[in-house]
Amino acid sequence: MRFDILTIFPDLLTSPLQEGIIRRARQDDKIQVAIHNIRDFATDKHAMTDDRPFGGGEGMVMKPEPISAALAKVRDEAGPGRVVFLSPQGSAFTQKKAEELAQLDHLILLCGRYEGVDERVVDLYVDEEISIGDYILTGGELAAMVMIDAITRLQPGVLGCADSVDQDTFSRGMLKHPQYTRPRQFQGLDVPGELLSGDHALVREWRLVAAVRQTLAKRPELLAEVDFSTAEEKILRKAGLWGEIELVLTSKDVSLT
Ligand code: SAM
Repeated sequence: MRFDILTIFPDLLTSPLQEGIIRRARQDDKIQVAIHNIRDFATDKHAMTDDRPFGGGEGMVMKPEPISAALAKVRDEAGPGRVVFLSPQGSAFTQKKAEELAQLDHLILLCGRYEGVDERVVDLYVDEEISIGDYILTGGELAAMVMIDAITRLQPGVLGCADSVDQDTFSRGMLKHPQYTRPRQFQGLDVPGELLSGDHALVREWRLVAAVRQTLAKRPELLAEVDFSTAEEKILRKAGLWGEIELVLTSKDVSLT
């Protein structure tokens, strides 16, 4: 998969692309990332990429011509791609959205700054606006990096153990069970005995119950979308959690009516 990033602050992205799994994915050619400095496409002698807003008001707006020229070059070199504008007004970036975008072979990520980009850029070129959360960042670069990170780890062969994607938080619609490593005892707290038992069925059962407990405590609304098998339902009933799960399901039905 190829990512092209359009930004006026390319240095913000270089370090995160050179570490850990993302660096390895690039080295192994599982992803390619190209960063384009929008300033290189400015045409006036001061290399201006922003200007004052028509109608007055605070702040500056990114000019359309340098963005248009940068995009034309990217498309010339790498094909049309899907153009995403990082924006607090966009649709929410979720694990589901990451999975959907991970199927594509080319994403072009446009990073705004200041008050954002001239709206005609959005009208003419943007396929989709995406927000990484309901807060305002100073620019789209960190948001683009969040997207690249989440999408890259979904590319085949990027994570050492394919299982770790399947068992992630959200992959089943609920939070992941808690994890422990050595030592067995830390500051008076023991690792749950089931995890030390060597009994795989017991470990699986404990993890299901712990994941549901975790989800009920932190994000109960997620459970409304989870399909439990009959065997899982039996385990959750035995653990005394089924009543609480049913309450979540009922409240979802009530909110829909
Ligand atoms: N004035 C704009 C508004 O109220 O919608 C916010 C502009 S923000 C200071 C500058 C740029 O940061 C945006 O154009 C966008 O590219 C990026 N940005 C800010 N918050 C973001 C978010 N939550 N998700 C994705 N990008 C964001």
